[in-house]
Amino acid sequence: MKVSFPHMGNAYIALSSLLSNLGAEVIVPPRPTRKTIDIGALHAPEFVCLPFKVNLGDNLRSLQMGADTLAMVSGMWACRFGYYGRVQHQILRDAGFEFDSILLGRDGIGYVYNKFRPTVEGNLTLGWFRAFRHFKRKAEAVDKLEIKSRQIRPFEGRRGSTSRALTEGLSLIHEAPSLEQIDAALSGALGLLEDVELDRDREEPLRIAVLGEIYAVLEPSLNFDIERRLGEMGVMSYPVMSVYKWLFRPLKTDPRITIDEYRARRIAKPYIAYVLGGEEHQTIAGTINAARSGYDGVLHLYPFTCMPENICRTILPRIESEFDIPVLNLCLDEHASPTGVATRLEAFVDLLRQRRRKRPPARIMKARS
Ligand code: SF4
Repeated sequence: MKVSFPHMGNAYIALSSLLSNLGAEVIVPPRPTRKTIDIGALHAPEFVCLPFKVNLGDNLRSLQMGADTLAMVSGMWACRFGYYGRVQHQILRDAGFEFDSILLGRDGIGYVYNKFRPTVEGNLTLGWFRAFRHFKRKAEAVDKLEIKSRQIRPFEGRRGSTSRALTEGLSLIHEAPSLEQIDAALSGALGLLEDVELDRDREEPLRIAVLGEIYAVLEPSLNFDIERRLGEMGVMSYPVMSVYKWLFRPLKTDPRITIDEYRARRIAKPYIAYVLGGEEHQTIAGTINAARSGYDGVLHLYPFTCMPENICRTILPRIESEFDIPVLNLCLDEHASPTGVATRLEAFVDLLRQRRRKRPPARIMKARS
C-alpha cells in the first residue's frame, strides 16, 4: 500500500510515522508551492475555498509520485470540509486516476482499522497501538519545537538562524524510527534552537494572537509563512491553533483540547450561538482572550469564500471596539501576493508599535466580564 495525504503544516511528520508503523509505504508530496495551488485551482470548482485547491494539488502530485491510496480527514461538519475528501477524490477519478480512498471520519472506525490488516506484521491491535504511540510522540515533539522557535525568533541575532535550526530539528524528528530515538532527536533539536545566538537587549516584543481558519493559520504555503515573518519583524506570535491540536481534537484523547474548546464556545456564545463547522468559536474567543490578556493585536487569517470565517469577519469589528484591540483581517486566495501581505503586516506592526508607546503592555482589558 502506497499511502499519501495532503499537507497541513508539519503534520506530515506524525502522520508519516503513523502510516509507516502500520506497514504502509508513505509518499509525502513536496511542500505546497504556487505550482501546487495552480494545479489544484485548475481542477477545482472556482468558488470553493482555497484549502480545497491546495489539498487537491497535493493529492494530484502524490498520485503522480505513485501513491495508490489517498487518506484524508473528512467528517460531518457543516462547512465544506465535510465534503473535501469525497469531492476531491471524485475529481481525481474523473481526471483518470485510479486509487483507493481512506476517508477518516467518514469511513467507519472498523473499516479504517481493518484496512491495515494486510500490511501490519503480527497482531493488528498491537500494530495500531505501537503506531499510535509513535504518532503521538512525534506530534508532541513537533509541537514543542514549534513553540520554542516562536519564543526565540524575535530575539535572534542573525535573521533566519531560528528557521534553519527548526528545519534541521524537524528533520531529526521525522527520521527518528523508535520512541527512544524520537526523544533523543527532540533533545538534539531543542539543543539546536538553544544554540541560536540571541540579542536579549531588544525591547519587549509585540504580542500578536494569530487566529482564523485552521489551514490558513497553520499552512505556511497558504499564509506566506506569516509566523516566520512576524518573528523576524521582532513580534511574538501566538497561534490559537496548532498542528497538535488539529490532530488530536477529533480523537478526544487530550482533555486539555476538549476543555479549551468548551471554554471557547462559552466565551463566544453571546456573539455566535451555533456551530458553523469551522474554527469560529476559537476565532471569536481567541480575540476576546487576546484583549483580556493584554496582547497588542490580533491577526485574523481566512480563505476567500470561507463560510465560518466570513461570518466571524462581520462580528470582529464589534469585538474590536468593545474590547479595544486592533484586528488585521487578511483574506487569502490564489491571487494573494507575498508583497501585498508583507505591506499590510508592516503597516499593522507599525501601528501597534505606536500604540504600545502610548499604552503599557501590561494592561489587561476587561471591557466585558
Ligand atoms: S472552514 Fe472555511 S476554508 Fe475551511 S473548509 Fe470550511 S469553508 Fe472551507
